[in-house]
Amino acid sequence: MRFSDIPGLESEKVRLIDSFKSNEIHHAILFNGQLGSANLSLSLAYASYINCKNRNENDSCGSCPSCSKMDRLIHPDVNYIFPVASTTKIYKEVVSDKFIEAWRASIIDSPYLSVDDWFESYGFENKQPNISKDEVRNLVKKLTLKPFEARFKINIIWLPEYLHLSTSNAMLKILEEPPGETLFFLVTNNHQKLIQTIKSRVQMFKIRRFSEAEMKSYLTKYKDISEVEVDQSIYISDGDINKAEKYLNISDADDLENLKLWMRACYSKNFSEINKQIDWFNLLSKIRKRAFMTYSLKLMREALVSNIDHNLSKISEDEKSFIDKFKLTLDIPSFEKIILSMDESIRFLDRNANPKILFLDLSIKISDLFTSKVKT
Ligand SMILES: [Zn+2]
Repeated sequence: MRFSDIPGLESEKVRLIDSFKSNEIHHAILFNGQLGSANLSLSLAYASYINCKNRNENDSCGSCPSCSKMDRLIHPDVNYIFPVASTTKIYKEVVSDKFIEAWRASIIDSPYLSVDDWFESYGFENKQPNISKDEVRNLVKKLTLKPFEARFKINIIWLPEYLHLSTSNAMLKILEEPPGETLFFLVTNNHQKLIQTIKSRVQMFKIRRFSEAEMKSYLTKYKDISEVEVDQSIYISDGDINKAEKYLNISDADDLENLKLWMRACYSKNFSEINKQIDWFNLLSKIRKRAFMTYSLKLMREALVSNIDHNLSKISEDEKSFIDKFKLTLDIPSFEKIILSMDESIRFLDRNANPKILFLDLSIKISDLFTSKVKT
């Protein structure tokens, strides 16, 4: 992330750069901006700038080894902490490091996303976001190490408002006496939720919401979308770039339609239709691919549950009518197999599996399950 990737906000960028140049970087900065603001993206651009080996007057170079690691969020001297929740597989020491690959993919895809989007895309379901005490223990361990290749060790804490109270207190000590060349960038949407003792130890850096012109310059990257739609999205989103992007992106309604087309193609073993769905899937952004797979998994689970208990469903009428028909085509063990395979696919997507092969493989497995049902 470079400063030039962020539309406008020139005075914010100048203030950050000047404090670096005059050697006056505060060791803990609170990047404070509303939902869909540039709080996270500015902290990332600033970290890139500080670490860049070939920075210019106004920005990082974007191409040195440090910048390329920053772009992929894999710089060894930058540590990320963000809200997570326990899952069926990860329920001990629930810390950011265990979710880092998926988080990186989500943030690279959309640096303006909200915690709800992050939770939905990961599939945490209805869990409460949290930054646990284990996280601080983990951080303390990391801070004992010297920087590997940069001058500073930078810790970006995304949404410290989700620090558990006991975590906040443990965090205080670190903020009070950080070891050597350590920086903390706390990125918040709601500084009022932070405890006063934390706030008193950080330098508040307020980031205003994006102007309409800034949003427009950013949203022009959607080349196939008309100007009227871009204006509409800006109109409804109140300076929240994430909201505007979501408005312009495909909605869940399309997910249901595409799931129907896909399952129909698998049922009838129509490989030209399956191929169309593969192409459609392949064109989605990574976060949308994950969202579609998570949505499909959710409906398959609903279908399985509704086989057992008719009163458990929490879904729309359209979804219900799809499930009512679909559940007649498979037996319970087959549903369980589909659910396992979809769950596995989501993990493969996080590990950058080839999406076309993954989708084809999954389609073949599902088609085979329909065949075995017909035989019995
Ligand atoms: Zn660079």
